[in-house]
Amino acid sequence: MAESNTVEERAERSTGPAQADLDKCVHCGLCLNACPTYRELGVEMDSPRGRIQQMIQVSNGGPIDADYIQHMELCLACRGCETACPSGVPYGRMIEAARAEIEAQRERPWTTRLARRFIFNRLLPSRVMLEIAGAGLYLYQACGLQKVVRATGVLGLLGKFGRIEALAPTVEVPFFFSQIGKTFPAEGERLHRVAFLAGCIANLTFCRLNEATVRVLQKNGCEVVIPGEQNCCGALHVHSGLKEEARALARNNIDAVLDGEFDAVITNAAGCGSTLKEYHELLADDPEYREKAEQFSLKMKDINEFLASIELNPNMGRLEYTVTYQDSCHLLHGQKIKAAPRKLLHAIPGLTFREMPNADVCCGSAGIYNIVQNDMAMQILEHKMTSVNVTKAHVVATANPGCMLQLEAGARLYGTGQRVAHVVQLLDEAYQLKA
Ligand code: SF4
Ligand code: SF4
Repeated sequence: MAESNTVEERAERSTGPAQADLDKCVHCGLCLNACPTYRELGVEMDSPRGRIQQMIQVSNGGPIDADYIQHMELCLACRGCETACPSGVPYGRMIEAARAEIEAQRERPWTTRLARRFIFNRLLPSRVMLEIAGAGLYLYQACGLQKVVRATGVLGLLGKFGRIEALAPTVEVPFFFSQIGKTFPAEGERLHRVAFLAGCIANLTFCRLNEATVRVLQKNGCEVVIPGEQNCCGALHVHSGLKEEARALARNNIDAVLDGEFDAVITNAAGCGSTLKEYHELLADDPEYREKAEQFSLKMKDINEFLASIELNPNMGRLEYTVTYQDSCHLLHGQKIKAAPRKLLHAIPGLTFREMPNADVCCGSAGIYNIVQNDMAMQILEHKMTSVNVTKAHVVATANPGCMLQLEAGARLYGTGQRVAHVVQLLDEAYQLKA
């Protein structure tokens, strides 16, 4: 597909990466080794520098053709290059803008359009639709059909689709949706009042993680409010180039928490946190919401970041595990938070921490990347599990539900059956031992 893309037409649409951002890249190549797709393929066009060069060509009137789309879509948007770049190139927002531009121009088959419209416009923003989908998936898993399908080897015959099924999260009942709208008191003296944003799919598939998050916050003197009107953060929409849809979700979340007089708004999902903290950029051109978005972004805290910033309740039992930690890209590269999760793990009595090589390189999860780019995601995951195996850790800790699913698949496929846990789940376990 070659679309006309004159500079005038582009300016009129006002999409695509900003010229000032493109100009920042001095093409030094210092980001190449931080890029998972470049590490796997060794191809310049699939490196950050190569992708930026292609964005520049499009910005100068070059075509948005199949080649360009392929290289942009193979990017994980992990932002490892952003951390490595000494010139401060804001690659994350550039790839989002490039994808939004592609999205604005591209004609997809009607079946894909229908599926995307359903997922992004009907499923993710709607509690009712998520609950219906969750109930269906729960029945498939609980009635034993999933076990039969997996045991028969049918999935192996389905190739890529079989591997994708292996990544499907387990639905947990009762859904966390039942807790939305409630307030949980602090244990002991109330030191903080926080709001907790519970995610969208996480209300079906990470319900126990969400409960653990609330308990750990309570143990640390927090009154935890779970605002009733919250919805999906819009991260998957932004990463897929659907900025308008993301803006509508952002406005709703801002309205849900802004008048609550919270000390902080908490998320336990690094992928969501990265987008939530950037609402002020997403709504920069919205006169009604620009200021509100800035206030909201200032209050947003990842759970690791928040707990590491307060005096942690040390009343924990011993966990005699060896644990390694995989940086979640959207925590490390998106939010620049590296020390906080390690500090929390070190605070757990009895726990032995072992750093893995290349902990800062993406595991291949990247939102829905491991579904839509499954071959590359699995190649990256295999290398990740080699790094994990070197540590001989029993537990791989991380800070994002999407990474947990990918690493669980990795432990089954290429690992030694390591347990995968969110940092907050290990803290919760240690607190429970002293309860
Ligand atoms: S993105 Fe940064 S590190 Fe990479 S080539 Fe450009 S200036 Fe160099
Ligand atoms: S975001 Fe990640 S995959 Fe994309 S170019 Fe940067 S380092 Fe490579």
